[in-house]
Amino acid sequence: PGPEDALRTPRRVSGACFSRALPAPLRLPRVVALSGPALALLGLEDADADAEAEAALFFSGNALLPGAEPAAHCYCGHQFGQFAGQLGDGAAMYLGEVCTAAGERWELQLKGAGPTPFSRQADGRKVLRSSIREFLCSEAMFHLGIPTTRAGACVTSESTVVRDVFYDGNPKYEKCTVVLRIAPTFIRFGSFEIFKPPDEHTGRAGPSVGRNDIRVQMLDYVISSFYPEIQAAHACDNDSVQRNAAFFREVTRRTARMVAEWQCVGFCHGVLNTDNMSIVGLTIDYGPFGFLDRYDPDHVCNASDNTGRYTYSKQPQVCKWNLQKLAEALEPELPLALSEAILTEEFDTQFQRHYLQKMRRKLGLVQVEQEEDGALVAKLLDTMHKTGADFTNTFYELSRFPAEPSDLAEFLPRLTSQCASLEELKLAFRPQMDPRQLSMMLMLAQSNPQLFALIGSQANVTKELERVEQQSWLEQLSSAELQSKNTDHWVAWLQEYRARLDKDKEGVGDTAAWQAERLRIMHANNPKYVLRNYIAQNAIEAAENGDFAEVRRILKLLESPYYIEGETTEATSPEAAARTTGDQYSYSSRPPLWAAELCVT
Ligand code: AMP
Ligand code: MG
Ligand code: MG
Repeated sequence: PGPEDALRTPRRVSGACFSRALPAPLRLPRVVALSGPALALLGLEDADADAEAEAALFFSGNALLPGAEPAAHCYCGHQFGQFAGQLGDGAAMYLGEVCTAAGERWELQLKGAGPTPFSRQADGRKVLRSSIREFLCSEAMFHLGIPTTRAGACVTSESTVVRDVFYDGNPKYEKCTVVLRIAPTFIRFGSFEIFKPPDEHTGRAGPSVGRNDIRVQMLDYVISSFYPEIQAAHACDNDSVQRNAAFFREVTRRTARMVAEWQCVGFCHGVLNTDNMSIVGLTIDYGPFGFLDRYDPDHVCNASDNTGRYTYSKQPQVCKWNLQKLAEALEPELPLALSEAILTEEFDTQFQRHYLQKMRRKLGLVQVEQEEDGALVAKLLDTMHKTGADFTNTFYELSRFPAEPSDLAEFLPRLTSQCASLEELKLAFRPQMDPRQLSMMLMLAQSNPQLFALIGSQANVTKELERVEQQSWLEQLSSAELQSKNTDHWVAWLQEYRARLDKDKEGVGDTAAWQAERLRIMHANNPKYVLRNYIAQNAIEAAENGDFAEVRRILKLLESPYYIEGETTEATSPEAAARTTGDQYSYSSRPPLWAAELCVT
């Protein structure tokens, strides 16, 4: 081992926010895809073939960019509700920052470039499938208009690691892959948890417990670098408490707005631990995320989240819980009584306001807000739930809602075709437990509720009972009956929607202009394309066979996720073909059966 290896050796580091690190070279690095718009942030031109070889070299970590000083960030975190101590960053390292001619400053990170001082027992590597998902989704979220870290490059290699074993017991080798991430900062809530005294539940402490001096420095750094307006406004204060309060208020607001955006696009993060919460309100760390296909508020996108902590509908409250942990980590620089008051004052109001505003746009309500708007949205979601409607496509179809009440004949079948078929529902609600296991669980719940609660199976059993009930109901149902039930639900909601639109139109002089304006707003707020699991999965399978064309095609597609004039109206579009044949899938189709319940870890 030479001196360089010391930079890659796992160790517990106290009194440090960053430790020097060094990428470990990969065999034969090769570009999977580059994001032109993300690299443009750094002043890099769109890459030709020569530039691709160079990109492979630099963005794999095999060569260092001039001036780069690789370092890994030390942070802690609450994982699934428990304080886990020093966690990272074991898989990502900073290269440094790029200051552009435009006066912007961007931090560069390589994720998967090898072990760092914080890698613990793991190898600091990432594989092709997870890297493609992170790369594509970072860019997709940006183009949807949602605050996010960016991804400039995805570079794979001939070096391999083992993450899983096949059923036959043989190891499954996967290609080491690196993603170049770009953001103003990657500092997280968990960055401030390195000072935490021993946790009352886990007994773990942060590695820098007691180092208030460093916390003050880090807070100064974060506020002056990323919240300069707050720093400036409090430059003359006697102490920093009011500044810190203003900072926490702004983090709270941004976080509330970010999660409101997620809810409105059906995005499930999957691992909302405090170390995956950005201090500047960006979506960060794309692991087992998912976009809702069939609307289900209880959807859990992370296969290892077995208590459903990070369920779609729980995301807002989880983000609030994480902010509470940040508040605790900022003590005593910001007294807890003050931060908790701010959290109570701001989070729910900001979330609700932003959520309703966005939903109103999605429904094309352009005039003054009405008291019933919240209820109209809630009823829409309830209708989507009851009819198993596809989240993205239902909203998208609503922009075709005819101006004339008499014209429902064409619209209604299109809308109800976005509801899950009997076959899909049977698959989605198939029981997952052995019936004997279920009845034993139920007996335990009866005889020893305390033990039952202790093993934490409540949520699983409740879900299973629901599945059993659904299944027996579905067994007795014909497709025609399902269709007619769905139609009834939608007719009822559309009546309310129609009435609400009439109200919106009241007093408007030029109704043609009103209609054009609401269509424009709906098109700009209801994406046609999101990174559905099946889309990512197809691209991953092709890439694993050495064909990166699909990744690149999807990247391009997701750069324009919203309506494009003229593209969607023809009956001959690939979407229309997919709907009629049912066996072809275009990028805006509901998932094929094989992918209906795809689960990611
Ligand atoms: P995550 O749940 O993805 O946020 O991961 C939690 C932490 O585990 C990360 O912050 C990393 O520090 C660490 N980690 C994840 N994957 C690896 C890896 N392959 N090697 C080393 N550390 C890792
Ligand atoms: Mg993480
Ligand atoms: Mg991760």
